[in-house]
Amino acid sequence: ATMPPLLSAIANAGRHGVLVKSAVVMERLGRVDAAALDKTGTLTEGTPRVTDVRPLPGSGLDGSGLDEDGLDEDGLLALAAAAEHPSEHPLARAVLTAARARGLTPAPATDFTSTPGVGVRATVDGHVVAVTAPSELPLAATELNGTDRAAAAGPERAGRSAVAEPEQAERAERASRAAAVVAELEEAGRTAVLVFWDGVPVGVLGVADRLRPDAGATVAALEALTGVPPLLLTGDNPRAARQLAAEAGITEVRAGLLPQDKVAAVREWEAAGRRVLVVGDGVNDAPALAAAHVGVAMGRAGSDLALETADAVVVRDELATVPAVVALSRRARSLVV
Ligand code: ADP
Ligand code: MG
Repeated sequence: ATMPPLLSAIANAGRHGVLVKSAVVMERLGRVDAAALDKTGTLTEGTPRVTDVRPLPGSGLDGSGLDEDGLDEDGLLALAAAAEHPSEHPLARAVLTAARARGLTPAPATDFTSTPGVGVRATVDGHVVAVTAPSELPLAATELNGTDRAAAAGPERAGRSAVAEPEQAERAERASRAAAVVAELEEAGRTAVLVFWDGVPVGVLGVADRLRPDAGATVAALEALTGVPPLLLTGDNPRAARQLAAEAGITEVRAGLLPQDKVAAVREWEAAGRRVLVVGDGVNDAPALAAAHVGVAMGRAGSDLALETADAVVVRDELATVPAVVALSRRARSLVV
């Protein structure tokens, strides 16, 4: 007997290196009429490299354990690597690779937590080390300052704010120095990552990633298939995102998004009558993959959560196979009727 068209399309997609999880998904792929792509690990190769290691100079804070000159480059990288160790984020792997390349051994970390689209936090040598997006910087300069902490401790402790004032000035000074480094790196198209030590910014890392070789062709093919320009959805900063998007031929960019913002963008489009194809790789993409008409995960470096949530998985790590399976589905559907 000949195989039903949708089943042979699934087999065919498999030969292209795409695992389509069901006949229903194979059928839906042909109906998508809009596409949204994640940046890091999806439009890019997902193997970002640390290009800049910038400790913030300045005297140590009271009880911070930092010496007069703060951290040196290796110290900063080792600290970041210690906190990033358990993370499966591409940025975490970049930090660990850079630390290893310098022969550094990260200290053991406990109490690891990660916030998708924001960063990680862990306890290292009894201190809280956080490695995050620059969006956390204003918080460090304000919420964590000495006065607020004293106020939070209750009125009987309010007198402490006088003692804490120099510390607060130091924090604000460090935050503004960090912001300047962040702006400089982002201007150069890098992703800036901040390192905090007990809430104090102690350094900035610059990270750069390459566009996939088939990114431009994929964007063009998706636009031809759907009739609308594909949208880039990213948690990264607008400057780095726009530069990369332009290289891939993407004009529609939404940056600085948290996982729920990616979902909102998909829902907005679907409310306007579009059936949205979402392609992503990260834990931060999982909710959007679930909300999409069809969610496709990049398999090689994709997080387990993305692979489980997605309706289809790109196993062979070629982005251009995504529009190829959309076309496959359309051909199969024309045979089904
Ligand atoms: P994208 O949407 O482009 O895949 P993410 O949402 O995964 O990016 O991450 C958005 C931003 O959050 C990153 O650019 C980075 O600043 C920060 N971030 C997320 N995870 C980490 C991590 N493990 N270490 C450092 N920064 C992180
Ligand atoms: Mg990603």
